[in-house]
Amino acid sequence: MAEVDDEELLLAVLNSSPVVDGRPTDLLHGPEAAKLSRTLGGCGSEQEHARLRQVRDTLQRLIREDSTETDGLLPALERVSLRPSVSVTGVAWELAAPPDDELAARVVLAWSHVITELPGRLRACANEECNLYLVDHSRPGTARWCSMAVCGNRMKARTHARRRRVEK
Ligand SMILES: [Zn+2]
Repeated sequence: MAEVDDEELLLAVLNSSPVVDGRPTDLLHGPEAAKLSRTLGGCGSEQEHARLRQVRDTLQRLIREDSTETDGLLPALERVSLRPSVSVTGVAWELAAPPDDELAARVVLAWSHVITELPGRLRACANEECNLYLVDHSRPGTARWCSMAVCGNRMKARTHARRRRVEK
């Protein structure tokens, strides 16, 4: 199975509730969910999707609303451990988790990794009508949009239109 890296996994789950044509959607609900979770290396079960939704919703609040409530992350971690194995290349740690919990646990670990390695760089798109998230890799750390093509240009056009209205 192809390994999805931490950041890719985290953003795939954080961005699984996009606003489409002004309506909130949920890719971790219904028939689409199994497809998404299997793409990310999950097992595709209902219980797994429930775990993922809880982790996603908790992380979204932590990022978007400056919440400090991390209890929603605990159920995904409760039955997880790291198992050591040893070879000539040294000791490696492997995640051991029930199948339903594993993907959600990996998402929480990925979040922890990203905010530790890139402090302040995981943020919500600055378009308030957009529910997507980004990891800012720009050197000055000023990236604000999930995508320049979608939200960046739209928000710039809106600011421009507002300025023109004020001038009239
Ligand atoms: Zn956006």
